[in-house]
Amino acid sequence: MTARETELRLSGLRCAGCVGKVEKALLAVTGVTEASVNLADRTARVVGTASSDELVSAVENAGFKARFPGTVQSLEDDSFEQQQAQQEADDRRRYHYLLKHSAIALGLGIPLMIWGMVTKQMGVNNLQEQMAWGVVGVVTGLILYFSGGHFFTGLWQSLKHRNANMDTLVALGTGAAWLFSMIVVLFPEWLPANARHVYFEASAMIIGLINLGHALELRARGKTSEAVKRLLGLQTKTARVIRDGKELDIPVQQVHKGDTLRVRPGEKIPVDGRIVGGNSFVDESMLTGEPVPVEKRAGDAITAGTLNKNGSLLFTAEKIGSETTLAQIIALVKKAQSSKMPIARLADKISGIFVPSVILIAMIAAAVWFFAGPEPRVAHVLVVTTTVLIIACPCALGLATPMSVMVGVGKAAELGILIRKGDALQQASKLTTLVLDKTGTITEGRPTVTRIATLEPYTEVELLTLAASLEQGSEHPLAEAIVASAKSRQIALKAIEGFQAIPGHGVSGKVDGQVLLLGNKKLMIDHGFNVESLVDKAEQLAEQGQTPIFMAIDHHLAGIISVSDPIRCDSQAAIKRLHKLGIKVVMLTGDNRLTAQAIARQAGIDEFHAEVLPEDKAAHVQQLQQRLSGKGHKVGMAGDGINDAPALAQSDVGFAIGTGTDVAIESADVTLMGASLHGVADAIELSKATLRNIKQNLFGAFIYNSLGIPIAAGILFPFTGMLLNPVIAGGAMALSSVTVVSNANRLRWFKPSAHKQSHCQSGSPGTV
Ligand code: ADP
Ligand code: MG
Repeated sequence: MTARETELRLSGLRCAGCVGKVEKALLAVTGVTEASVNLADRTARVVGTASSDELVSAVENAGFKARFPGTVQSLEDDSFEQQQAQQEADDRRRYHYLLKHSAIALGLGIPLMIWGMVTKQMGVNNLQEQMAWGVVGVVTGLILYFSGGHFFTGLWQSLKHRNANMDTLVALGTGAAWLFSMIVVLFPEWLPANARHVYFEASAMIIGLINLGHALELRARGKTSEAVKRLLGLQTKTARVIRDGKELDIPVQQVHKGDTLRVRPGEKIPVDGRIVGGNSFVDESMLTGEPVPVEKRAGDAITAGTLNKNGSLLFTAEKIGSETTLAQIIALVKKAQSSKMPIARLADKISGIFVPSVILIAMIAAAVWFFAGPEPRVAHVLVVTTTVLIIACPCALGLATPMSVMVGVGKAAELGILIRKGDALQQASKLTTLVLDKTGTITEGRPTVTRIATLEPYTEVELLTLAASLEQGSEHPLAEAIVASAKSRQIALKAIEGFQAIPGHGVSGKVDGQVLLLGNKKLMIDHGFNVESLVDKAEQLAEQGQTPIFMAIDHHLAGIISVSDPIRCDSQAAIKRLHKLGIKVVMLTGDNRLTAQAIARQAGIDEFHAEVLPEDKAAHVQQLQQRLSGKGHKVGMAGDGINDAPALAQSDVGFAIGTGTDVAIESADVTLMGASLHGVADAIELSKATLRNIKQNLFGAFIYNSLGIPIAAGILFPFTGMLLNPVIAGGAMALSSVTVVSNANRLRWFKPSAHKQSHCQSGSPGTV
């Protein structure tokens, strides 16, 4: 069996402490190499060769439940949507269940509490009171059984598997209060007179409040997955296919590769494909975040989920089902949402040892109160134990990170930023240096020929004919520019012999029996040419930010072809934003010094390295990392992801800048769907906002627990003469999770500091 990645849906996972237990149980299964449980969406992602049954039973043996919806990759058909719908229905049912039972428990608890506050008669001093409280006690017992039953079955499970969790704490706390009160009612003589106090209202209130907290949390959690729902909503249900000359609407699942489809104005594109007829503007903003619709005509690729604006288009289906860009984006976002940040591992570890520690603390506090406390000691012991157990649940701690990651990653997708892992999100917030590739990152990456300067006896057309014929063999953007220029002048290209690319320098070969050499100054000098006669011209062009390419024919210098790749209209503004974020921007390019300097000046970049060979880019990034390491600096790299892959991989966070929806999603830590450097600034701002949000959550959860426990243990008693009411502890603990989830949801309103200027149209100057 080959290793694969599977997703399990978990239930019974009520608290952060369970995360570690399920992970441990899964990792113990033979063949499992990775297991990661996400508390936010209650899933486990498992990598390995183990069968699904083995995984499910491992989880069940640990005291939880697991379902197996299929492999993560199987987005096909509607199974994915069905899963989503099933999950939502489950959540809705559970929400109503919790609300109902919260209402029942509070329905008893609140009147009892008011009675106690108003009459101060919660004691058992005579037979009449004994009878009355006896009835209340039985009713409370029934409520504990019906509305809090899940805590007690949890307690049973955790005793059986010897792993304490949040259920354990709630069950122990409320159970202890109820049992004590029942003893007061049945055997008041066992206790000193001033300890004959009942705490039924505490049991009922705590169960009610915690159920209410879970209900609110469930509801808020639903909102955190809105980004994925929005993406799912972009999928169309039907497609209009042309078969045997007739147009008919069929379910999108029945579209085959190679089918010819039609999209009418105002319709969403159903699958990825290539246009064969018609032209139109297509709104790709839902995927790329770029507000300006893109013009599309025959031969252009279109992407499922984008919106056809004004024209009718005929296209051939090329990618369907789980292969479409949209399906891949959805899978990627889902995966990243449930991935773990290093900071989350820490929180999980803490909460794993938390519950047993809390039980120990409760026991110590009980002992102190019993042996050293004032009378009524038994009552004090009870209140302190219950309150410590209830307030100590580390739920908020476990939710703090995954909730924010879920919302942050979703928000990123909405802005056209695809984040591969939570890890990248955390690293991006720490970047202090960003390395940018020049071509295609700062510049548009679509260079055009602007000037041709020849030496006697060659003419412009001769030069271009030979150069373009030679460049047919190269895939370099400069080569494409030269070929395109020849084509636009209707020049017929000739065959090449012995073509050779010299990476970072140029190309050589034979056309028409003439030996050709085409490339930068260094290439010429390396081949023993004297470039004096063209140097002035070349420098003048380079100072304008153009790239002069030297050409030699049959061992004679023949001229220069100048190519211009203008900087993107918004690069300067985006780099300014990066500077404002405190990030040092460094440009790397294989281009010559003068051109690089001109581009760097135009873009507002302070440090650049020119004439860097492609294979040296990664080394440059590494050098920067070493120079800055030890100071906690992180070096990011943004490139087009095609020839910069090693440098992207070397950097701490690699940003691949795509051109619209035509991106290789697998290529970097962060993929930017939009073709703008603003995306990098957006991503960094968002990651900072997410980290800030996580820290608020962790801080809140930590403060809550670290203040709550000593107060519950009675540390304030010597000063105030009062103990924390267990009901308040229950309320606080319910509130803490709700607060964390709500705070994470605030990230949904994140806005990048600057908005892309919609008037910034990327147009290149015409070919000369
Ligand atoms: P970049 O950083 O622009 O991707 P490269 O390392 O690919 O730089 O190329 C560096 C330089 O080598 C170019 O500026 C150009 O002068 C020359 N060069 C590389 N490939 C070619 C080619 N196919 N045709 C002409 N010149 C080339
Ligand atoms: Mg390049």
